[in-house]
Amino acid sequence: MLYYQIWISGIGIVCCSGRILVVLGGSVVHSLDILHFHPHVWQCSLSQTSWKKALNTDEVSEEMMRNTFKSLNDPNLSAEYNDTLVRFFTRKTTFNYQNHKVYPNQASRPEWAHRLGCWSCETYLTNFQLETPLHALVECPIISHVRNEVLRRCGLSRLPQQTTNTHPLWGQYLALPSNKNCTFLGNILNNVVSAEFLKARNNKKIDQNVLDRKVKDYFLALVNAKPNGKIFKEINGKGLGVYFQTPRPPEPASPQSNISSQRT
Ligand SMILES: [Zn+2]
Repeated sequence: MLYYQIWISGIGIVCCSGRILVVLGGSVVHSLDILHFHPHVWQCSLSQTSWKKALNTDEVSEEMMRNTFKSLNDPNLSAEYNDTLVRFFTRKTTFNYQNHKVYPNQASRPEWAHRLGCWSCETYLTNFQLETPLHALVECPIISHVRNEVLRRCGLSRLPQQTTNTHPLWGQYLALPSNKNCTFLGNILNNVVSAEFLKARNNKKIDQNVLDRKVKDYFLALVNAKPNGKIFKEINGKGLGVYFQTPRPPEPASPQSNISSQRT
């Protein structure tokens, strides 16, 4: 057991059994869980409970949240995408269904905060749907169509949800041409798509052709920045180069050409 203590003018700070205790006059006056001081673990445990509530299911495991945050910390995700997604996964993004709670006073409520429904459904399908996180990123027919279309055009297929380690925003992927597991690349790509949906919410229809090009340009920029990096290897090693039109990997010199060059 880890044990540590400091005493300053009769007040003791004691760390033991995963807790920080403040001791005064021989009795504990305050006790805090050490997990609160480790932001990553704190974020995971907070969002796991909160996501169970938001998705109304127990099928959200600690491992799934850990995998999600691991994917968000990947250096291939830009700082801007990372910010947007960390806000979302720690449940700090406000969705329209919360507007009346966030602005309880109708008189001082901004114009846009009167909306409770999904902007895309109202604008393009003339259909009212409460905008919850699940609707905005998963169930909205416009959003789910574009997401599936972009993944398909990148040569990826999301495996159906099978275990507690996956949920609609954290999945397992196959690369279609090779049928190989492509979960690492699939999740970064799916996160990029989710971040673009979050940024466009409430004001812009996402066009599948524009998003497809944007996602591919983003990954090509990563490949150009690190020509032999993990993204390049994932794309080419799993047969996705044709979808992304990445530069061809160098051909290994054939023994035949070596022999003929020696002869001449
Ligand atoms: Zn919708």
